[in-house]
Amino acid sequence: MEQIYDLIIIGSGPAGLGAAIYAKRAELKTLVIEREMMSGGQVLTTYEVDNYAGLPGIGGFDLGMKFREHADKLGVEFAKDTVQKIESAESADASGKEEEQELLTAAEAGAERPPVIYQVVCKKETRLARAVIIASGAHHRKLEILGEAEFTGKGVSYCATCDGAFFRKKTTAVIGGGDGALEDAIFLARLCEKVYVIHRRDEFRGAKSLQKRLMELPNVEILWDTVPEEIVGTDKVETLRILNKKTGEKNDLAVDGVFVAVGITPNSEIFRGSVEMDPAGYIAAGEDGRTNVPGIFAAGDVRTKALRQIVTAVADGANCVASVEAYLNGQN
Ligand code: NAP
Repeated sequence: MEQIYDLIIIGSGPAGLGAAIYAKRAELKTLVIEREMMSGGQVLTTYEVDNYAGLPGIGGFDLGMKFREHADKLGVEFAKDTVQKIESAESADASGKEEEQELLTAAEAGAERPPVIYQVVCKKETRLARAVIIASGAHHRKLEILGEAEFTGKGVSYCATCDGAFFRKKTTAVIGGGDGALEDAIFLARLCEKVYVIHRRDEFRGAKSLQKRLMELPNVEILWDTVPEEIVGTDKVETLRILNKKTGEKNDLAVDGVFVAVGITPNSEIFRGSVEMDPAGYIAAGEDGRTNVPGIFAAGDVRTKALRQIVTAVADGANCVASVEAYLNGQN
């Protein structure tokens, strides 16, 4: 008979790996399903992380590798696959599969085990678990302006640390005013001749420490109250059309690259209908990670929360495992 994991963790960013480390130490039979080539999630493309306690100034890639090494040292099991949906074996069994019915009956018979077995349906394989943590993270939001799609990869980028080197001694624009935009602009200012920061308001959302570092850079020009309207070029980006929302003035900036850093969108679409979400698509769950479905938990950037940081993602992983243990012991 197919094996049943105590816990399947979907995603291998800081939340997923944080959960895996705690789950392994709690001796839960655990599997992490990851779709990317490398573990680490968004951290991998962060140039420098200066707010993770104990590791000041560590490179994002190095931190991602450390998380993975830690999980490997504990013997966490990983599978490369793309999750398509989660369903209870019971609902999947509506088609009358005998084997799954047996699983349910067996689980129901064990008084200390919750009765629901979840099927995590993936592209390559379907796997079974008594509990699931969704730690699928988030991805970069798009501007949705003319030229953005056309010039993606031809001057439009969503990752300064990945693509910044192509713009050495050139002129770039960073769109956004959060931590991501400020970090990207600071990183690009080391490489580029000139960096514009285009922000739609007259104050940044990002951390004060990053603002201070940005403002000290001589080759950075901040354009407040300004929004991008169109990206123009022939084979690659040449011009960014901008509008000052206060004065109504329009301008064409000659740029070689446009770095979009206007926030993130949760990777939750495949779970729509399975668990409750807020209007923006974040999975509704508190600090304990419990969703509206017993046995399904959410951790990290994909869940509703006030502060999306590496440290809060790792903490979510730990909290979720505590909830999973209580759930598996029938304590809720
Ligand atoms: P964010 O904090 O949501 O900031 C997005 C920025 O883009 C905001 O300034 C927003 O403007 C602007 N924006 C949104 N839509 C726009 C549009 N259509 N056109 C122009 N501007 C637009 O996103 P983020 O910077 O990617 O950060 C995401 C999360 O990750 C945050 O919680 C952040 O703290 C965290 N993060 C942490 C670190 C770190 O710990 N080192 C690094 C990066 C990110 P408004 O300000 O006007 O809303």
